Amino acid sequence: MLNAADALATGIGSGELYHVPQQADEADRELYSAIEGRLLVRWATYRERDPQLRRRKMEAARRRGEALRCSVCSFDFERTYGSLGDGYIEIHHVTPLHIAGPSETRLSDLALLCANCHRMCHRSRPGESWRTPDMLRDEMNQLGR
Ligand SMILES: [Zn+2]
Ligand SMILES: [Zn+2]
Repeated sequence: MLNAADALATGIGSGELYHVPQQADEADRELYSAIEGRLLVRWATYRERDPQLRRRKMEAARRRGEALRCSVCSFDFERTYGSLGDGYIEIHHVTPLHIAGPSETRLSDLALLCANCHRMCHRSRPGESWRTPDMLRDEMNQLGR
């Protein structure tokens, strides 16, 4: 390594090698690169969830003859993605489990949401609590969406 550095220094000093000014895209790459993808082990606690509730919530919508679509924006995965989106919708606890604590969850405590609205319900600034789907829908209506 030192030999290579010495060789470069000698080359630059002799005029055989010269510095090429850093290009803009190189600078961006250096500023925004990071090592990712290593395997790490994480200890985590998480709230108990019952996967049956998801299936039953979707079945209840189907029994009522309703499409599986977002209760906020009406996005329907099957309409957009065809068979790939058939049967896909995200399930959201209207009262967050960290507030409800250990308790019995009813189907009426769950909402069908698309991925975007689901994220927006969970998005909050420090000190804010999560939005319910109704709150998010009201905010979107106020924005004329
Ligand atoms: Zn939505
Ligand atoms: Zn959720």
